Amino acid sequence: MSFNSFIKHYREQLRELFRGEGGINEISLERGLPDEVYEKIMDCNPLQVWVPEEYGGLGGNTGEAMSMLEASGYESLALSLMMGINGALFIQPVVNYAEEETRKEVLDRFMNDRCTGGLMITEPDYGSDALQMQTACSYDEEQNAYHVKGTKHWAGLTGMADYWLITAREEQGNGNGLSRDIDIFIHDSRRGGIDVKEYYKNLGLYMLPYGRNEIDITVPESYKLKPKSIGIKMMLDILHRSRLQFPGMGIGYMKRLLDEAVQHCKERFVGGKKLLDYDQVKRRISGLQMSFTVCSALCAYTSKNIPLSKDVSNMSLEANAIKTVTTDLMQEAAQSVLQLMGAKGYRLDHIAGRSVIDSRPFQIFEGSNDILYQQITESVLKQMRKLKVKNLSEYLSDYELTHRSADRLDDLLDFEVDHTLVQRKMVDLGRAISRIISMDFTIRLGEKGFNQELISNALKAQKQRIETLLATFKSPDTAEVVEHYEENSKWIRFV
Ligand SMILES: Cc1cc2nc3c(=O)[nH]c(=O)nc-3n(C[C@H](O)[C@H](O)[C@H](O)COP(=O)(O)OP(=O)(O)OC[C@H]3O[C@@H](n4cnc5c(N)ncnc54)[C@H](O)[C@@H]3O)c2cc1C
Repeated sequence: MSFNSFIKHYREQLRELFRGEGGINEISLERGLPDEVYEKIMDCNPLQVWVPEEYGGLGGNTGEAMSMLEASGYESLALSLMMGINGALFIQPVVNYAEEETRKEVLDRFMNDRCTGGLMITEPDYGSDALQMQTACSYDEEQNAYHVKGTKHWAGLTGMADYWLITAREEQGNGNGLSRDIDIFIHDSRRGGIDVKEYYKNLGLYMLPYGRNEIDITVPESYKLKPKSIGIKMMLDILHRSRLQFPGMGIGYMKRLLDEAVQHCKERFVGGKKLLDYDQVKRRISGLQMSFTVCSALCAYTSKNIPLSKDVSNMSLEANAIKTVTTDLMQEAAQSVLQLMGAKGYRLDHIAGRSVIDSRPFQIFEGSNDILYQQITESVLKQMRKLKVKNLSEYLSDYELTHRSADRLDDLLDFEVDHTLVQRKMVDLGRAISRIISMDFTIRLGEKGFNQELISNALKAQKQRIETLLATFKSPDTAEVVEHYEENSKWIRFV
């Protein structure tokens, strides 16, 4: 089957299942997916886009995989995340790091038995600081297998996936604790050993099960992923590749929100005229178009520059900028559409309200945006120090990811950066830098011939946003946490 015929059929099938007569629609309040709907989706074999041709798939082309995420996201953000988890957090790592025989065996089951897979990193006591994880592994020579034990939670597809990638640190023996490096194991759920202790009542993304798992498993040596150097680098390669592909999950969903908002604002009359005729409404719709255009530019960048074979472990700046911008735009778009919808959008079964809830965790998982913004600034400052450059404009005008946008922002960037910034200022600057990068990608998309009106509007809006973000960065902010905030703080006493 060619990719084109797959994607055409997949789109039609999803449209029918979600929005056709009797379609379940993502706004269904049931958790999970009805079996018959899940089976019809999996009958399209969407995961074949992640699988290379030699294992029977469509090739694992990044742009095609992101187009599948886009088609999924137009109907349901949760479905797109489900497909993204399977691809970026399971299949791609297996393709790149599993032993040949294991890879063949596992991918064969994805292709023929409609299997699914997810990734367990997070533990109840270790989330953002995942490198401190306490899940431990030890090698048993007799069995030629690893024993892995610990507690993991919040893994997408909890209790449902046929395969898991499970991260752990090796026991050093002699009371020396756990190794600093990370190992990653493929676990076949048929072997047992994962006990779901609790299913969480996740706030949104109802389609996906989450929970807390006790892990006590034995994994054959051949099912351990084989890093090219150290395990932490392998984990970075996996997480960066996933972050780089986030726009695939965002783009279909943003287009859907834009379509919904335009239709509503054309049909809804307030004060005797269409909503779309109000200036502030136009501003919101134009903002949604900006989000759609920027996200398209991010998709184009990843699709062109990140083939599956490329090691992206050192692409933290690109990955963090793309992930943060995409997820902030997703949440902003949802908030804006809810405003435009008015009260009807605040129903639990309306796409606008649901979008606010469903898109929110994207700013938290796979690297909390606050932390990623700080890291963005750190990596730029590190490069500037190396080159002995102090002026931001001088650095960004010469840097591959920003020189096109920096040329258009010259005055705004013409200042020296203090290298001893406090964390909140690092976050502010990181937010601005990530927009400068996404503006650069937008210029590139425009040069390729994308709708010039959309590009021109998106560039204007991004410039304005960068101006505001830099003003925030430059303004002093020394507000401290007041420890004794209960003291002398009852307003009624001061009337
Ligand atoms: C819907 C959803 C899906 C998920 N899917 C998966 C999955 O498939 N697999 C998986 O392994 N995990 C998954 N997770 C877990 C997710 O990756 C973690 O929630 C995330 O890493 C944050 O960890 P935490 O929740 O323990 O928060 P914490 O580490 O406690 O952090 C909470 C907040 O504190 C702040 N913070 C933390 N550290 C710093 C710092 N150094 N500087 C400044 N601020 C800081 C940030 O605002 C951060 O958001 C998922 C979570 C959600 C909500």
